[in-house]
Amino acid sequence: MAKKRVVLTFPPELAEVPITYHLVKDYDLSLNILKAKIVPGEEGKLVLELANGSEEQILAGIEFIKKQGVLVEPLSKEITLNEEECIHCGACTAVCKPGALSIDPVTAQLGFDREQCIVCELCVKACPVRVIKVTF
Ligand code: SF4
Ligand code: SF4
Repeated sequence: MAKKRVVLTFPPELAEVPITYHLVKDYDLSLNILKAKIVPGEEGKLVLELANGSEEQILAGIEFIKKQGVLVEPLSKEITLNEEECIHCGACTAVCKPGALSIDPVTAQLGFDREQCIVCELCVKACPVRVIKVTF
């Protein structure tokens, strides 16, 4: 089963089109909405993980989204963490809503689960020693 993370940018007139409904119903895909900012009358942003389908199903779903007039871009930004310089203070874990960053209760060391990261970048500013960076 393939998996793909994409950023959708909706023009204001498409902000209320039920795109996610069609992806599930017509393309048989599972969706994980990682981040959403949809305000009627304004440009909308949605960070989606498309999963549980073949590569072809996912590409067909992406093609469908593009045909609606929505801009589709890969989620290409990545968070990198300099583990050697991390002081394991845990400040970044407080702002990480998806739980990608956590302190191990046994070892008191920071752990980073990249699969959970939605690249919201909140941890970058939260780190007092600036060891978290965004790369493209
Ligand atoms: S960017 Fe940082 S705060 Fe945001 S999800 Fe990823 S690890 Fe968590
Ligand atoms: S805030 Fe920075 S120093 Fe503290 S645990 Fe997170 S990455 Fe490490």
